Amino acid sequence: MPTHSPEESKRYREKHKEDLKLRKKLDYEKNKAAYKARARKSEKQLMQDPEYKKKRFAQIAKNHDTPEYKAWKKQYMKEYRAANRGKFTEYERRRNAAKVGCEVVQIDYEALYQASPQCFYCGKPLKREEVHFDHYVPLSKGGSHSESNIRIACPFCNMSKKDKMPEDFLATKDKGLSDSGGHPG
Ligand SMILES: [Zn+2]
Repeated sequence: MPTHSPEESKRYREKHKEDLKLRKKLDYEKNKAAYKARARKSEKQLMQDPEYKKKRFAQIAKNHDTPEYKAWKKQYMKEYRAANRGKFTEYERRRNAAKVGCEVVQIDYEALYQASPQCFYCGKPLKREEVHFDHYVPLSKGGSHSESNIRIACPFCNMSKKDKMPEDFLATKDKGLSDSGGHPG
């Protein structure tokens, strides 16, 4: 079969539009049963056929390898994260907690903030949007992802505490030995 440029193929398709339509229709009539059977199968069932799976994966890879797709995906993820900011971080917290085998529960962050709107470690009063939620005993040290193990923290304390045990953090803090050598402001 000779190869055609996309322009040639397009011209050919336009010229033989009716023919092609008819051929497609005849082909459909001929393979109707097979098409219908295939349409009834779910993607999951179809994927059990290695040939189909191979083709499908190649198709997906091809569709996802375009600059248009990548730009769309980037924009989509940006909008998705903006629209789901709270949910996303809660999901991530729960997932991280689940990963280290901790108890996973729903946390009422609003209630925690309302109960004490200040940094647990330095006492600084905090606006809702600047609050960090800190695992008092870090998840990596066996702490649980539960309300009793969550403290309100200012970004500075939360970031300098990282995954230190609370007593270790408070000890370095009292001596002014925290990472950046003290609290700003
Ligand atoms: Zn603080």
